[in-house]
Parts: sequence; C-alpha cells; structure tokens
Amino acid sequence: MLAHAASDIGKIRTTNEDSFLCVPPHLYIVADGMGGHAAGEIASQLGVNTVAGYVAEQPFPDHPTQQGEILLRQAVEQANAVIFSRARTNPEYAGMGSTLTVVYVTGEDVFWSHLGDSRLYLFRGQQLAQITNDHSLVGELLRSGALTRAEAQVHPQRNILTRAAGVSEQAEVDSGHFSRKPGDRLLLCTDGLTGLLTDDEITAILSVCTGQQALHTLITEALNAGGIDNITAILLENSL
Ligand code: CA
Repeated sequence: MLAHAASDIGKIRTTNEDSFLCVPPHLYIVADGMGGHAAGEIASQLGVNTVAGYVAEQPFPDHPTQQGEILLRQAVEQANAVIFSRARTNPEYAGMGSTLTVVYVTGEDVFWSHLGDSRLYLFRGQQLAQITNDHSLVGELLRSGALTRAEAQVHPQRNILTRAAGVSEQAEVDSGHFSRKPGDRLLLCTDGLTGLLTDDEITAILSVCTGQQALHTLITEALNAGGIDNITAILLENSL
C-alpha cells in the first residue's frame, strides 16, 4: 500500500504529543501521548518505537491470522510495559500514557491492534467504517446506546480515556484482522482529526481526493474547524 502521513501541531497547543511511524510496506502506527511537561511526547515516542522494535524482532507469521493478531497485541503490551515502567521510575513522567493504533499489512491481510481513542478506519466502496473502538468514556456510552454518534462528537468529557498504554501495569489490548480488497483505503488518525471532523466530513473528503491531497485536505479542514489539538494521520491506499 502507498502511505501518506503527516502530523500538525494544531493552532492552540505549544507541543506536539502525537507520534507516528511508517515502516513500509508493512507497519504503520499512530500514537497520541498524554502527561505533563514533555511526558506526552515521550510516551507516544516510546510507544511507536517499542512496537516497531518488537515487530522487527519477530518473524511475522506468513499465514493467518490468530498468530499475527497475537504478535501485534504483544507488541502493544510491550509498549504498555515500557511506558509504565518509565513513568514509574521517573517522577517527572508520572501518569504519562499514550494511545496506540497499529496496522500490519502483509499480502491481502491487514492486522491491527489498538489501545485508546485514536482510530483505524476502512474506506471501501465510498463507505467509511471505523474498525477500532474508542477506549474512552464517551466511546463506552456510545456502544451502550446511551449516546448518539452526534452527541458523542461534542460531549464535554470526550477526552477521558478508559484504556491507554502506560497507565496501568496490564493493558487490555484490542486486535483484529481483515482481508483487503482492490481500492481499499485505510486511515489511521488521532483525535485531533476526529474530534473536529465527523465521519460524514471525512467521507466527503475521501470521496473526492486521493493520496497526499486527501491527507492535506483532512488536516487543513481540522485546522479550519479550530485545530484545538495535535492532528496526525496516515492514509494507506491499496496498490492491489
Ligand atoms: Ca489528542
């Protein structure tokens, strides 16, 4: 898949606590760090680097599916342990953590693993589907039916995470896989994008733009909508 990636500090924040990593042709990661001072930045960088290091050391199973998922889940568990340990041993990093959304593409198989409220979307046949669940208070309320998607988008407590890497000793990591089809596009992004653009707005942009132009338009529109947070996105386009 062809990868286009960008991160923008936004209009309000003075630091960019998001990190991303593209290791073509297989591995793509976004991470959104949290914590005082520089801790959020450290947490998200530790997260992506630990996942990439873990995956680089393991032979990725040729064929399916359960093993690939387990490997990606273990990579995020490892990142959780590394961030947690760094936060515990350095008082200035106490309480830091990071989201992690990881995609591994091999042949037609797409594996993913995930913690937090960054997102993986699949854009297929002009339809946008969110593959990952948001590990946030609002995400839980949405899944239980207590909120509509429109209410969730503007909920005052939408920044409260229920799961993230580094905040507890054990992490409950989600994972999954699917087969990609010709024309599929994947979008990994942090909540600096999805907090300001609805799924319908993202769909509208992806329907008319591709590649670097699509990525640029997504980020520009999030900035135009306020740019209140760091904005990071990776767009993968199918070359099948
Ligand atoms: Ca964020």
